[in-house]
Amino acid sequence: MYQIKEIFFSLQGEGAQAGRPSIFCRFTGCNLWSGREQDRAQASCDFCDTDFVGTDGQNGGKFSSADQLSRRLLTFWPVTSEPPYIVFTGGEPLLQLDTKLIAACKSAGMIVAVETNGTLVPPNGIDWLCLSPKGKSRPVIEQCDELKLVYPQADAMPDDFAHITAKFRFLSAKNDPSDPNLIQSTGQLHLKQAINYCLTNPQWRLTMQSHKLWGID
Ligand code: SF4
Repeated sequence: MYQIKEIFFSLQGEGAQAGRPSIFCRFTGCNLWSGREQDRAQASCDFCDTDFVGTDGQNGGKFSSADQLSRRLLTFWPVTSEPPYIVFTGGEPLLQLDTKLIAACKSAGMIVAVETNGTLVPPNGIDWLCLSPKGKSRPVIEQCDELKLVYPQADAMPDDFAHITAKFRFLSAKNDPSDPNLIQSTGQLHLKQAINYCLTNPQWRLTMQSHKLWGID
């Protein structure tokens, strides 16, 4: 059984694949926060702005088998001439993503990407792995395609991940969803800090949540 918060077709907004048409499959649940506001202050990850609770999002639901879910995902891809690009995200997708689902997607011709906090061992067969460490948690993954770090985080700064091998390293300026009045001002401050960090540490590149600028999901 796979519990899915939402499925939608859009453009990837962040990182090395920005602008790429992608089917997003958001799994329910995360191991670093319950998703309830009353638990945020005690959570390992306390700045999440994603709703990953339940199965009530657009096209969400419970899928009894890997084949059923992969068939549903395939319906979102508009053409047969290009392989579907599927991004498994969350919540934490590695709580549910398994080799059966990856195999079902691959046999349907899909390219499989995953965005994970890195605290769980990924199954084999992933084509593009985006590792995004959060808070005090430490990744068990030491190799990925892109390392994407929300910046600044008191307990997770770039030097903490120098040992990780990645084709790309990205910083993304942090917002503070717990205080809506501060989102804009702290976001701008963090953006300046992220820009300055990249300028003095050019192995890191800046990424933005471009889909928000583009006005899409
Ligand atoms: S690890 Fe990701 S999904 Fe989980 S609480 Fe943090 S930002 Fe949200």
